[in-house]
Amino acid sequence: MSELLVVEQRDSGRPDDAAHWILEGGQILPGIDDGRRMAELRRGLLRHERVRAIEADADSEDVEQTLSVLHEPEYLETLAEAAAEPVVLEEMTPPGLPPDIPVSAGLVAAAREGVRASMTAAQRLADGAQFTYALCRPPGHHAGPAWCAGYCYLNAAAVAVQVLRSAGVSPVGILDLDFHYPNGTAAIVAPMEDVSILSIQAHPVTNVAGGEVRPVTDREVAHEFHVVPDRGMYLETVSELLQELREDFGPAAALVLSLGYDIVAGDPHGSWNFGPEIFADIGRVLAAAELPICVVQEGGYALDSLADCAEAFADGLLDDSDRLVLAVPARDPRRQRSNGRIV
Ligand SMILES: [Zn+2]
Repeated sequence: MSELLVVEQRDSGRPDDAAHWILEGGQILPGIDDGRRMAELRRGLLRHERVRAIEADADSEDVEQTLSVLHEPEYLETLAEAAAEPVVLEEMTPPGLPPDIPVSAGLVAAAREGVRASMTAAQRLADGAQFTYALCRPPGHHAGPAWCAGYCYLNAAAVAVQVLRSAGVSPVGILDLDFHYPNGTAAIVAPMEDVSILSIQAHPVTNVAGGEVRPVTDREVAHEFHVVPDRGMYLETVSELLQELREDFGPAAALVLSLGYDIVAGDPHGSWNFGPEIFADIGRVLAAAELPICVVQEGGYALDSLADCAEAFADGLLDDSDRLVLAVPARDPRRQRSNGRIV
């Protein structure tokens, strides 16, 4: 019987570690990333009897060392010097995009604790756990080598990847199922020859200049839905990407799952309409892949749904009796891939 080890983020020690605001669609909206998300997700996950929670315990020196491999030194220095009052870093934005979030000491402290959780989850996976889950905030997948964006400052998923590689777990696959494109993770892992990244997101992609994803390596596959997907379309795509991971990139030794719950109805940063039960199906599809999986929490802001989403995910992932193996149609040889992108 498999279990899911949830790694809880430590308190940042700062009362001011909630998101301040975010620029979206030309408007400044109040930030909605704070500790309430973690509390709801924890509540949902722990409803499952085979979910066990521990506190993040990675060493602070290891946190700094790992971050120094993934983010540029000037960027890390700038974050380390952040003051309590939020300020905008005009220079540290994704290519071609304006700043969309401010930085503050409280948010950086929270992001560091998120990284500690992600490191702990990856280390436990490397030590032999089948499924681990870094319950962390703020999200990280929009944070690039030298930029912050979309609530993200430090890239917790890239951190998990790096911990696994350092422990000799290679190659590593990343699957990002957040509503938004993982522009930061894709940029950070691009030079890593033993890492492939697959993602599913809504089109137009709001966090890439021009709205078009252009993968820079042939180890990236980005699937954009131009219409609101239904359950069948979405799950088939997850299966296809996992198949692609197996067949095109060679069998991964582990999977880092960037999991966003902002694909459900009512998410203030999303526009799709899945119910929380989609995550039970996603969990079953992932379990059927028979890979060690380190989950890293990304988005998901519909506070009323988060507990149900997380519970459904644990139910599906740990449902040993009913794994969902979708029959993926034989691949169409006429389907072309161009520089990593499905077209
Ligand atoms: Zn998102």
